[in-house]
Amino acid sequence: MPELPEVEITKQGIEPFLRGQTIEKIVLRNLQLRWPIPQKLRKILPGLKIASITRRAKYILIDCSAGWLIIHLGMSGSLRVLNPSSETPTKHEHYDLHVSNNNIIRYRDPRKFGALIWTANNPNDHRLISHLGPEPLDDEFNSDFLHQKLQTKSSAVKLQIMNNQVVTGVGNIYANESLFHAGIRPSRRANDVSRRKLERLITAIKTTLKRAIRAGGSSLQDFYLADGSTGYFQQEYMVYGRDGEPCRKCETTIKSITLGQRSSFYCPKCQK
Ligand SMILES: [Zn+2]
Repeated sequence: MPELPEVEITKQGIEPFLRGQTIEKIVLRNLQLRWPIPQKLRKILPGLKIASITRRAKYILIDCSAGWLIIHLGMSGSLRVLNPSSETPTKHEHYDLHVSNNNIIRYRDPRKFGALIWTANNPNDHRLISHLGPEPLDDEFNSDFLHQKLQTKSSAVKLQIMNNQVVTGVGNIYANESLFHAGIRPSRRANDVSRRKLERLITAIKTTLKRAIRAGGSSLQDFYLADGSTGYFQQEYMVYGRDGEPCRKCETTIKSITLGQRSSFYCPKCQK
């Protein structure tokens, strides 16, 4: 599943091809994503100028001057840049955005849980976005903030850092990895984590996400020019997906438990 780093990389990847361009048309082949793609986009979009491309949580926001496109990649979505002579679309490629520099942004999504939404209003006020907590990489997400948020929460700390109203975009992989780096067991009660460990957790979340974004950035070239199958970069994880294998720090066997229906991985020795 695309997590925040993949969405950020996608945003960075398409931005140079879209910013300042005029939309020529949108080709909609399949409207049935998580919500139906509005057919009126065929009429609304042509002639609109793309002012900016930004990211909020796992949403890509395209400012089309007269309104905004909100894109979500769902479980299996990806965007890539093509030029008009490129190959014909396959059945999983649901829409193409044609822009004035002759490029096409093509959306592929085999599982169809993604979204393409139009709003004429500020996207930060949209019902999918308005309730979200701060961005993990913003200064606003710091240990004072997290301490204050968690002091009344007695559920597992991992569930809290994956809660979009506490902080956005920390998905399962990065929650697991950050808790390892901070030395915190995923099941520990959120309001029982020391202030010192919360500091380490904040640092770990930011570092882990930034490292993933950098790793993806270095593969951008391949990501956009190759076959476009998925392109999401594989990283070497410390605990994620490694139950039964030795901890990379202390060689204790990594354990797995289920929290909130998601798999959680930890080292019983390194994480208390
Ligand atoms: Zn260990």
